[in-house]
Amino acid sequence: MGKVLIIGAGGVGTVVAHKVAQNPDVFTEVMIASRTKSKCDAIVKAIGNPHIRTAEVDADHVDELVELMTSFRPDIVINVALPYQDLTIMEACLKTGTNYLDTANYEPKDVAHFEYSWQWAYKQRFEEAGLTAILGCGFDPGVSGIYTAYAAKHHFDEIQYLDIVDCNAGNHHKAFATNFNPEINIREITQNGRYYENGEWVTTRPMEIHKGLTYPNIGPRDSYLLYHEELESLVKNFPTIRRARFWMTFGQEYLTHLRVIQNIGMARIDEVKYQGMKIVPLQFLKAVLPNPQDLGENYEGETSIGCRIRGIKEGKEQTYYIYNNCSHQAAYKETGMQGVSYTTGVPAMIGAMMFLKGLWKRPGVWNVEEFDPDPFMEQLNLQGLPWHEVFNGDLEL
Ligand code: NDP
Repeated sequence: MGKVLIIGAGGVGTVVAHKVAQNPDVFTEVMIASRTKSKCDAIVKAIGNPHIRTAEVDADHVDELVELMTSFRPDIVINVALPYQDLTIMEACLKTGTNYLDTANYEPKDVAHFEYSWQWAYKQRFEEAGLTAILGCGFDPGVSGIYTAYAAKHHFDEIQYLDIVDCNAGNHHKAFATNFNPEINIREITQNGRYYENGEWVTTRPMEIHKGLTYPNIGPRDSYLLYHEELESLVKNFPTIRRARFWMTFGQEYLTHLRVIQNIGMARIDEVKYQGMKIVPLQFLKAVLPNPQDLGENYEGETSIGCRIRGIKEGKEQTYYIYNNCSHQAAYKETGMQGVSYTTGVPAMIGAMMFLKGLWKRPGVWNVEEFDPDPFMEQLNLQGLPWHEVFNGDLEL
């Protein structure tokens, strides 16, 4: 059906490549490109399909990307490098007539700032070029938006309250590690919290608001209110929403480590001089922390991510909880990666599949909830991330 170029060969890129290879009727030609080619070659070896091509590319440079895309001529790029590369890859897509998909919104390197404005600004150019750009197609953002769109389409006339709940109840047996790129992860969770209520954004101190929430098959876990990028597009695309929040679980041990990291200045993202060189402390920290890709082997337990929604259907208030639980060990057995990479990589593959099947093909720049959720939801059940629903249960929120 189509040619795909995967950019990024980390934890998520590895899962995307495995899942793309499992669907050869849709992805007829595949290339994995990243800054370090040996990582792409290792993925191809693990998959065992020598027809998958690999290449080296520095995605910070539009001209390198253009050269690669001009020679391979992909129908779509799955961008699972880092959020810093979103705009250069989108530029290269426009220059080469290639469609685009990512899993995280653009962030400038020097400020931890999460908003879609930079990428939404490309809407007209993608429209005029007849190209589709699908933004935020991981789990959260990604499936969280698709769950919301599915709820709006099938179960509510009006969604009023939305809480996205993200629990990782896994244990990797390390004193401290992050589940995806440590730099991106720590930037995300050390910023102020923020939620939407009655048309306004309310800012909180980092981790200021927390609550015990009960997760299916897991039990109660301390859950902390964070700002998460999909809140911005969801309140825009579902204007009946009165309040939208995002919650993530953290253990006390993790939070203690994080506090120390911040207190000693290792979470800083500005440059400091060290032995005549300039280094960014958080980037240095990344180099000494466990690699998220190596956590899989001893990772036990599961993730549980879902949407808890309250709203109106046929004049009556109802609640709805839709979620997926993903076992770290099952993810590792299938792809060699833990559950957090798995829950991100599978939706990225499905999004590209939706595009190549012509189901999510629409010139412009779109967040996932703007497409028909039904065929995507069907694929989630087939591709390893089955979902479950609870009607009119206690949402705890
Ligand atoms: P990793 O750090 O494991 O992998 C990132 C990959 O991108 C590495 O292979 C890295 O290469 C490559 N890369 C970095 N910079 C460049 C560059 N300039 N040019 C080419 N390649 C580059 O990260 P993850 O796999 O954990 O995460 C990938 C993406 O997924 C991130 O954007 C993250 O924010 C997103 N994500 C989204 C989630 C969701 O649910 N929506 C959840 C989790 C992650 P090298 O190895 O050489 O450094």
